[in-house]
Amino acid sequence: MKVLGIETSCDETGVAVYDTQEGLLAHCLHSQIDLHAAYGGVVPELASRDHIRRLPILLTQTLELAGLNAADIDAVAYTSGPGLAGALLVGASVAESFALARGIPALPVHHLEGHLLSPLLSADPPQFPFVALLVSGGHTQLMRVRRVGDYALLGESVDDAAGEAFDKTAKLLGLGYPGGPQLARLATQGVAGRFRLPRPMLHSGDLDFSFSGLKTAVLNVVSGPEWDPERMADLAAEFQHAVAEVLCAKALAALKKTGLKTLVVAGGVGANQHLRQVLDEALQKKGGRVHYPEPALCTDNGAMIAFAGALRLAAGEVVGGEPAVRIRPRWPLAELQPPQSARQ
Ligand code: ATP
Ligand code: MG
Ligand code: FE
Repeated sequence: MKVLGIETSCDETGVAVYDTQEGLLAHCLHSQIDLHAAYGGVVPELASRDHIRRLPILLTQTLELAGLNAADIDAVAYTSGPGLAGALLVGASVAESFALARGIPALPVHHLEGHLLSPLLSADPPQFPFVALLVSGGHTQLMRVRRVGDYALLGESVDDAAGEAFDKTAKLLGLGYPGGPQLARLATQGVAGRFRLPRPMLHSGDLDFSFSGLKTAVLNVVSGPEWDPERMADLAAEFQHAVAEVLCAKALAALKKTGLKTLVVAGGVGANQHLRQVLDEALQKKGGRVHYPEPALCTDNGAMIAFAGALRLAAGEVVGGEPAVRIRPRWPLAELQPPQSARQ
């Protein structure tokens, strides 16, 4: 079965084809970074309009790359939420129209399920059950994952998401947009520990996180009388260490609580090399393992949506009802159900 995946939840237009027999056949991505850079953040209306411009082009490109015609596609999977309503509407309208025209099913997919399952696309995929650490621009969550669609929330950020903290801190330091990768790059030239930042909620005894105070702590350093911009790399390194230390400690606590040995990391911050190093070492010591998506599939993309949709459809998920453009800008991941045929 060949599934076309469409992602437009935020500022990336992603299209891909996943074949349940042959794997990922093609995926194309257009990032709107340049479009939003001048504003220092995503402008929802501009995002929607750009998805409209890019999606037809990417669709043609992806099919060409995969060596397929529209008639070869068996089903469409699209990001239905969570995300920006206007941006979601573009992908949903195109996906539902494509499916209606071809007489094939269109499956609404949860964006975070896409992120969460993306490590299963790698050459050495994790086995269920596992603990997932979702660290993206909008979410920081620990989930117990029994199988596709069976997700229990163990803990989450009470304020900023980890990626958001990276972006806001980078902005404070005068780095470009989006700041996460730039801050990470700067951190490689610095030494952690020369500044001392807090490890928020490290000893809170639960599996929740808080990152907004860390950004304030950085602000206090850079607006203090002794601040020397030459030491920015040291501050970036300390920031990155603080985030990674807390994420790692809570991920280990989640594994302990659930009695599981496998950790899966997904979302944009999962591309962070320092975080990967810290988690790899910690899990090795505990006799466990960490799985990540391919670096290019950490941030938003169509491949993860095509894949999540294909897993569900292959498990017998039925797409019911009249054709409709289905979006859900707010949608808790733990509300998902396993594919229908797998349910009792
Ligand atoms: P969500 O998935 O929660 O809706 P999103 O789709 O915006 O949010 P992603 O695309 O998964 O999030 O990830 C983007 C985030 O990842 C940004 O905040 C970005 O700064 C961060 N990020 C990307 N690469 C790195 C890196 N190497 N180090 C730290 N952060 C990074
Ligand atoms: Mg993005
Ligand atoms: Fe995302």
